[in-house]
Amino acid sequence: MSDKVFELVKKEKKRQENTLAMIPSENYASKAVREAVGSVLMNKYAEGYPGKRYYQGNKIIDEIENLAIERAKKIFKVPHVNVQPYSGSPANSEVLFALCNTGDTVMGMKLSAGGHLTHGHDITFSGKYFKSVQFGLDEKGFLNYKQITAQAKLEKPKVMLIGTTAYPLALDWKFFGEIADSIGAWLVADISHVVGLIIAGVYPSPFPYAHIVTTTTHKTLRGPRGAMILVTKKGVKKDPDLPTKIDKAVFPGMQGGPHENAIAGIAVCLNEASKTSFKAYGKQVVKNAKALASTLQSSGLTLVGGGTESHLLVIDLRPEKLSGNVVAEALEIAGIIVNKNSVPNDHMPPIYPSGVRLGTPAITTRGMKEKEMKQIAGWILKVIEHVEIYKLPENIKARGTFMKAYKDKISKDKFLLDIAKEVQSLCKKFPLK
Ligand SMILES: *Cc1c(COP(=O)(O)O)cnc(C)c1O
Repeated sequence: MSDKVFELVKKEKKRQENTLAMIPSENYASKAVREAVGSVLMNKYAEGYPGKRYYQGNKIIDEIENLAIERAKKIFKVPHVNVQPYSGSPANSEVLFALCNTGDTVMGMKLSAGGHLTHGHDITFSGKYFKSVQFGLDEKGFLNYKQITAQAKLEKPKVMLIGTTAYPLALDWKFFGEIADSIGAWLVADISHVVGLIIAGVYPSPFPYAHIVTTTTHKTLRGPRGAMILVTKKGVKKDPDLPTKIDKAVFPGMQGGPHENAIAGIAVCLNEASKTSFKAYGKQVVKNAKALASTLQSSGLTLVGGGTESHLLVIDLRPEKLSGNVVAEALEIAGIIVNKNSVPNDHMPPIYPSGVRLGTPAITTRGMKEKEMKQIAGWILKVIEHVEIYKLPENIKARGTFMKAYKDKISKDKFLLDIAKEVQSLCKKFPLK
């Protein structure tokens, strides 16, 4: 273990221990999950599916992949699961590959409204190889279901690929199911961000309404980096060949050898997610997000959608005339790790958006509760107030230089560094396992 990499891993471990991971797509996988992923399973090639491999020596690998599949089927009560997608983006591309021809119409939520890149954003495969139609939010941050209905009836998408990465409110899956049915479209629900909350029963489940559900395994599910494609009873009813189409689209359609070490990690995290303690975890994630939201709001900050019904919130910094970049960089110096994010109808481009996104999955895994959320909200408020004097230049060309000088300045800012120390002592009370 003398490679420089291991020194860097140690440093990163320390960073994770001493700061608050509040990026809502992040979490801490258990030691058991990490052991599975780091195991000798990574040495094996297993192209194909259990019982139908293109390589010898896969007896045990088959048992592992079958275990992951069986556990997923049981938790989500679905007839078919594919656990091989390398990650969430490949999973979505595989579903589109299975259901569409190039040029077919795909409908999704805009990235700027909180949808995902792979739901039809113009610079991705999903926006380039398909005809993408997208919907956004109104000024307050709400979905306009009437408008979505009209758009769907007009455009008649073949697939509605619906899910959120930066939208704090719950989606009305029944509505999306009915619209899809009325125009004969496939409803694919992408629950990457909220899967753990759905298992805990604190976020609406799309399983009765969608034909296919995709999810990453490393966000609220607390597993390894990976993804699953789940075919629902409704999906099989619409097309009995759907499971085969999905499997073929994954392999050989888009992928080669599956990462069986990651698949083992998925099996482990699904076992963890089947315990009652996981339900309690999911409930606490939402309680914590609500506590954080209400403290920030009662001090006058504006939240997209007026609060949260999930694990995340988006602070709209337009009333403060602040850039998301300015706030996110300052929070990092203070030991609070978030990401800049667009707000509905943002007048600023995605590299300088007007909001920040933060969430509670990782800090809830550490064991933090409402009391700590109030404390953290207090620090966030102080940091925002502290950097209110730093306004991003109107002149686009001046922004880079401004940010460089700003970052330099705040890296030595005593006020922020003092908060980082307080954050660190809170972190010490909630060690990582
Ligand atoms: C994170 C996410 C993805 C993509 O997952 P990657 O593993 O980053 O490729 C897809 N859809 C949604 C809704 C997500 O939140």
